Amino acid sequence: MSELIELSAAQAVARLRAREIDASELFEAYRERAAADELNAFTWVASAAPEPVADTALCGVPVAVKDLFCTEGVPSQAGSRILEGYRPPYTATVVARLAAAGAPLLGKTNQDEFAMGSSNENSGFGPVLNPWDRSRVPGGSSGGSAAAVAAGLAPWAIGTDTGGSIRQPAALCGLVGVKPTYGACSRYGMIAFASSLDQAGPLTRDVTDAALLLSHMVGHDPMDSTSVAFPEPITLPSAEDLRGLRFGVPEELLGDQAGAGIEPGVRASFEATLALAEELGAEVDTCRLPHAPHALSAYYLIAPAEASANLARFDGVRYGSRVAGDRDLETMYSETRAAGFGPEVKRRIMLGTYALSSGYYDAFYGTALKVRTKIAEDFREAFRRFDFVVTPTSPWTAFPLGSKTDDPLAMYLNDFCTVPMPLAGIPAISLPSGLADGLPVGFQLAGPAFSENRLLEAAHALERAIGFDGSRARA
Ligand code: GLN
Repeated sequence: MSELIELSAAQAVARLRAREIDASELFEAYRERAAADELNAFTWVASAAPEPVADTALCGVPVAVKDLFCTEGVPSQAGSRILEGYRPPYTATVVARLAAAGAPLLGKTNQDEFAMGSSNENSGFGPVLNPWDRSRVPGGSSGGSAAAVAAGLAPWAIGTDTGGSIRQPAALCGLVGVKPTYGACSRYGMIAFASSLDQAGPLTRDVTDAALLLSHMVGHDPMDSTSVAFPEPITLPSAEDLRGLRFGVPEELLGDQAGAGIEPGVRASFEATLALAEELGAEVDTCRLPHAPHALSAYYLIAPAEASANLARFDGVRYGSRVAGDRDLETMYSETRAAGFGPEVKRRIMLGTYALSSGYYDAFYGTALKVRTKIAEDFREAFRRFDFVVTPTSPWTAFPLGSKTDDPLAMYLNDFCTVPMPLAGIPAISLPSGLADGLPVGFQLAGPAFSENRLLEAAHALERAIGFDGSRARA
């Protein structure tokens, strides 16, 4: 049994294909571990292995799915009490695609409410613990997916990234996380946070697993008009060096002033990875992203603005829970929303509604959109000289539970290095670069739109050279 858990997902697929292991045994091994979860990583676990489907690409290796993906007949609550008990009548496209490819649903994973957060402490169903140190957060908002994979409760998982919610928990849990190009994966059936930013992506033990899972997620979906056909197949990476690649280190995120907020252990791991990249043949130099320092401000206007519109549908009538007042309809709406939403969601609805209100729209929302365009232009300019822009994924390693909950602005700083990419719509990958004081550190590479294959190749070469060992978290 424990031998099964030690296989990466891609290794499990190979062993299943060779009929050396059995799909229902593998499912059951993970199902038992997920059901015995002590990290609060799961909000729902499948009760039995599904009927095996013959001749599929993923051969029955099960996947854990962030709660906000709609799954037919299975609780889909987006980490919110307002959706308590909601079982959708349909399944999100990416989950359906994975099931069709032979990756059945293992369970639904805990998350920050409506994906708003960086620590998983905003979940209506309690915080998730980090398997590397249970007194610390796993990151967020896909914290349940990250903790589940890191702890070996699931072979792999999917999450969503709006401003960092795949990459940052991947970094804090010692995993690989990919935020694809905007539009690469269908958003149909993903309970929306900020529709112009949200993207689904994999959280996995290694880069090969990330490529394999992503290859079955991408593609145009007639149900999502913002989805596009990926221009080429996602292939399994094999690169062992970085010859001919140029890495740009953005002055505005890592220079003396901005970089001062980065923990020394994270900085040291980042520098060591840059040195390793040079040994592997990459050229490393400073690049400029002049508007990157404004990315957080723009993000924390645009994301709440879109959220305030998206969350208007939760009114006690159509989905989930209702506070049944004996008075008028409007009172029922407001009492349901007051009881159902947590404090961070309310904060964002208020911020977003204000930013969109007449008289303030141009000053706040309109200005943020202009900054967003500037950030996209900065990246385009940087990619003339560099193949990838590289940063630490998170300024710090996993922090103690409760240590940032009283200070929303300190919490938002988690996203310092991860929000520029979704604002620009470009893909980025986080991979473990080592440990600092016994906790995982993430290294991020971002590339132009649809450069996923090249990002995965570069990350594969780095991963090989780094030799990160995540087995301690599964013990
Ligand atoms: N931490 C960011 C936020 O709270 C990003 C969340 C996300 O990517 N879903 O909005």
